[in-house]
Amino acid sequence: MLVELFTIFRKVHIFALNILFPIKCVSCAKEGDWLCENCFAKIKFLDEHICGVCEKMITPDGRTCQSCRKKSSISGLIVATSYKNNLIAHLVHLYKYRFVSDLHKELGEILAKALQKTDVPLPDIIVPVPLHYRRLRWRGFNQSLLLARYLSANLLPQFEIPLKECLARNRYTPPQMKIKNYHSRQQNLADAFSITELKEVKNKTVLLVDDIATTGSTIFECAKVLRKAGAKEVFAIVIARQEMKSV
Ligand SMILES: [Zn+2]
Ligand SMILES: [Zn+2]
Repeated sequence: MLVELFTIFRKVHIFALNILFPIKCVSCAKEGDWLCENCFAKIKFLDEHICGVCEKMITPDGRTCQSCRKKSSISGLIVATSYKNNLIAHLVHLYKYRFVSDLHKELGEILAKALQKTDVPLPDIIVPVPLHYRRLRWRGFNQSLLLARYLSANLLPQFEIPLKECLARNRYTPPQMKIKNYHSRQQNLADAFSITELKEVKNKTVLLVDDIATTGSTIFECAKVLRKAGAKEVFAIVIARQEMKSV
């Protein structure tokens, strides 16, 4: 009963907000969506990809290059678009720091489109990068989980790819971008993640989903844990990669 009341209240609240402050395209101000179809169509997807680990070698779809493969558990990091595109930076900012959770649809569609352009194997499961409950309480939602959910439902027509929240964050870690030194970043993340459902991971091709990669350490650490748990391959996808110096 209480939940129903809350849902009704929330719907009325959203309805009232939409009348007072109608949703407009952040790019051209057309009413209706956060990003209208026209402006969405203008988004430039990256057509040249580099190895996500060394960020030097050009590789198909951002697959990990030969030499990085020896030290990394990730098979590839697909970066959809560029953070240097002001519209993308603005959308991500609204989503993460102005708490516009509805934007997961537009941003999720960017991920879906980017993934459809690649030849990476279709994942058996989609796994979001987990958020510590302290951050979850602050933001109110896990931005990676909403994106993962969107991909799970919309990547393939009429077929849902199972979403598995099988990674857990063991402890609170300061945001990686605040730690400049490589070694300290590794230390910061040591044992930060664990697997909650081993059987979900074994022999599976996993698609790990996060919003933004900066150093990539979080994604690489998650991939390591997933591979240790028996995952066949781990690919990851992010909207964009943010350079350390622009943080
Ligand atoms: Zn527009
Ligand atoms: Zn490399």
